Amino acid sequence: MSAPSESQRMEKIVSLCKRRGFIFQSSEIYGGLNGAWDYGPLGVELKRNLKNYWWRVMVHDRDDVVGMDGAILTHPAVLKASGHVEGFSDPMIDCRTCKAHLRADQLVEKKGVKQCPNCGGRDLTDARQFNLMFETHVGASAEESSIAYLRPETAQSIFVQFKNILEVSRKKLPFGIAQIGKAFRNEINPRNFTFRSREFEQMELEYFCRPEQGMGLLEYWKEERLKFYGNIGLGRAKLHVLNVPDAERAFYSKGTYDIEYDFPFGRQELEGVAYRTDYDLSQHQKASGKSLEYFDEETKEKIVPHVVEPSAGVDRTVLAMICEAYAEDQAPNDKGEMESRIVLRLHPRMAPMKCAIFPLLKNKEPLVAKAKEVVALLRPQMTVFYDESGAIGRRYRRQDEIGTPFGVTIDFETLGEKDPTLRDTVTLRERDSMKQERVPIQDLPVILQERIR
Ligand code: ATP
Repeated sequence: MSAPSESQRMEKIVSLCKRRGFIFQSSEIYGGLNGAWDYGPLGVELKRNLKNYWWRVMVHDRDDVVGMDGAILTHPAVLKASGHVEGFSDPMIDCRTCKAHLRADQLVEKKGVKQCPNCGGRDLTDARQFNLMFETHVGASAEESSIAYLRPETAQSIFVQFKNILEVSRKKLPFGIAQIGKAFRNEINPRNFTFRSREFEQMELEYFCRPEQGMGLLEYWKEERLKFYGNIGLGRAKLHVLNVPDAERAFYSKGTYDIEYDFPFGRQELEGVAYRTDYDLSQHQKASGKSLEYFDEETKEKIVPHVVEPSAGVDRTVLAMICEAYAEDQAPNDKGEMESRIVLRLHPRMAPMKCAIFPLLKNKEPLVAKAKEVVALLRPQMTVFYDESGAIGRRYRRQDEIGTPFGVTIDFETLGEKDPTLRDTVTLRERDSMKQERVPIQDLPVILQERIR
């Protein structure tokens, strides 16, 4: 059997996500809303694990970063000052043959002639700028003055609240403000599953510094962020750093790295790490007329801080983790015959369910009672999944498919029926190696905690 192509692999991933409750098309029963996705019971756990881990390493583990949670509805003045109202747009081209709206960079070129990637049509309009922001109205009137935007990035509320947060946190440069939250972009062509959506979540840090620290901190944050992706299970070989060339960088940026990942549909950006100079704070200072300066007690000078921004996408990272984890291999069934299995080799730290608990038989009351004791022991510390139905091999397979790293089976040995020395011990099975070890129930919390932290 030949290895599946990358597009077949992607199809299998999308189908697993739906079948097991990671990700569903939004408004599916009404035909779906393009570019919007709903996370199911397992998807929401995976996403939360990612966000919690990001928050832990970027905020809780550090003395120099504080968090905030800004509003999604944004005053138009904020986005005028930041340049989004004027310039946050993609060039759009229409295909007159199939009526598709296309981003200019999606056209295919054959023998020097640009074509529509859907129908091959060559009758294309000129490119025009299409602003990606969602506009809405606040209050009862629909006048110009009531316009608000759904934020296209979380960063702007951080800049706008810079002074308040500086005052309340009493931080000294360099220090950062972190935020995780929804952002909205009316993408011309949402595609590649959740990769390019119209509603998505970002994890952003704005790390403020003195001008002379900017370039060094750009390198520092690029390295920190690469470490982060390793710590959530993305293989270093599939991660790449693109040093964005001068011509493609925002004019105010003195350096930008894109951290990219090899998805089945190609190498694509996961995160941008950008040295944005003092552009954002200066723009808001100018437009609002309010000082956003920092008083440096050492030099007795006022400066507008510079900023380095690592800006990551939650949904893209979740998708990368699922793509990285998806594997098919061989595993023995209850009769010891090898069968193919689907396994999500998620990093234990990220897995939605940490441990599955199985009584060997569901109609043996002492086994069930013991299994429920194990559930009660572990539940305060981790997500657990209790399953008593079907052959044990099948139950393992169901957990492999959703990435549960550990399985605990309560059998007759646990009851001490054959060998009293084995009383209150269980088999602990590891998902990837399928190795089983016999461990005392009372040791489970410590053993598992160590492996999932
Ligand atoms: P792209 O070039 O892919 O459109 P971008 O360079 O516009 O992305 P940024 O503005 O740097 O993206 O946003 C920071 C991060 O937010 C991106 O690295 C990505 O992870 C995430 N992101 C941006 N747009 C989307 C989207 N439409 N869907 C999902 N995630 C997104």
